[in-house]
Amino acid sequence: MQQSKIVFYGGAGSVTGSNFLLDTGTEKILIDCGLNQGTDEATGLNTAAFAYNPADVDYLVVTHAHLDHIGRIPKLVKAGFKGTIYSTEGTRVLTEPLLRDELMLMMHENHKNPTQPPLYEEKDIDAAFKLWKGLNYHEPLKLGSVMLELLNSGHILGSAIAKFSRGGKSIAFTGDLGSGNSPLLPRCEEPTGVDYLVMESVYGDRTRTDADRRERLENVIEEAAKRGGALLIPAFSTERTQDLLYEIRTLMTEKKIPSMEVYVDSPLAEKITAAYTAHPEYFAPALRERVEKGEKIFSFPQLHFIGNVNESHGLTTAPNPKIILAGSGMAQGGRVLAHEEFMLPDTKTTLLVVGYQAAGTIGRRLIEGASEIELYGKKVPVRAKIEQIYGYSAHMDAEQLVEFVNKIQTSVKKVFVVMGEPAASSTLVQRLRDYLGLNAIAPEAGESATIEL
Ligand SMILES: [Zn+2]
Repeated sequence: MQQSKIVFYGGAGSVTGSNFLLDTGTEKILIDCGLNQGTDEATGLNTAAFAYNPADVDYLVVTHAHLDHIGRIPKLVKAGFKGTIYSTEGTRVLTEPLLRDELMLMMHENHKNPTQPPLYEEKDIDAAFKLWKGLNYHEPLKLGSVMLELLNSGHILGSAIAKFSRGGKSIAFTGDLGSGNSPLLPRCEEPTGVDYLVMESVYGDRTRTDADRRERLENVIEEAAKRGGALLIPAFSTERTQDLLYEIRTLMTEKKIPSMEVYVDSPLAEKITAAYTAHPEYFAPALRERVEKGEKIFSFPQLHFIGNVNESHGLTTAPNPKIILAGSGMAQGGRVLAHEEFMLPDTKTTLLVVGYQAAGTIGRRLIEGASEIELYGKKVPVRAKIEQIYGYSAHMDAEQLVEFVNKIQTSVKKVFVVMGEPAASSTLVQRLRDYLGLNAIAPEAGESATIEL
């Protein structure tokens, strides 16, 4: 019986920093190389040397283009990785603007704090893309002694479950699993015949009830317009912004919400939206057909992409009501902070939180009802109305995660629950044991496991 070893270097005991090593004995395959985000330890973890020698790694397989899955790839290359990087073509296309934007942020931080240099340089990004090959879903690829297949995980454009097979055994790394709520993407696929599963658990202990999300969004926009102020939506540049633009366009063209100006205040989100527009092959079939017939799903007269910072500052005095989508998605950095500083003290403002907010982030504090938050070192009172719609989350909730495993469990011998806060991961472990009678564990960072593969 052949054996392989998995080491949970990152994304174990935490949501972010996804980084797993599959050592088959003949090849070393890394799955994701993400940034740690949102915690006090994150910076230390990101700057620390890799716990393995990157030069020894043969392949890097990337599940999807979120920073907590891709953010340390140029650092890996800088540290000596010379293997091949594989992902879907969609992931490859989205990753480039995200990494260049992240480098800009790190350089900006470095100006303020000279002891904190960027993790990598421009040339490391260039070098990473020289090693990178885009694949199609279900295009089998031989990586030494194992076969790789990417399945659609329905989370963001190009997101994949990475399935590795050898000698009749297989292991699947889920990356992040889409909730089926995206108005743009097809639903997550279920891998078949999987013996081992390394699965995400972001919402491992929470169930969402926002099935009528478009109606909720309609109500929030109508209410915000009635309050007469700005509707500020901290939104991730990737997927969330495109989901919302599509929904707002639909509501506005169907005249279900009042006509008002919509500003996407993020040059990165503009680039990512352009990448989405250029790759309709990743959309759900019905939508793809509409796009191929010429419908511009991310374009309407009231929509403006805001490029430079002066224009961004100008938004504070732009006529109300208005909708502003700005990064970052957890209100933890980016242009949204300047808008919050000005708009949160105003009772006319509505701030809408969509999707997961990590512990310790400003977004999390706002939904927990904080009466003031600290921005740029000063206290800002929160008088704005805080709204929340979970239905746009790009992640499966607790019930969906259990159901996902339930559908494929006949072959599953063991589930490694990762990429969740400890309470979420342990809750999911317990449910998989109790409801499905499965062997499930939540490994700690640095732990390893031997599997039959
Ligand atoms: Zn993700």
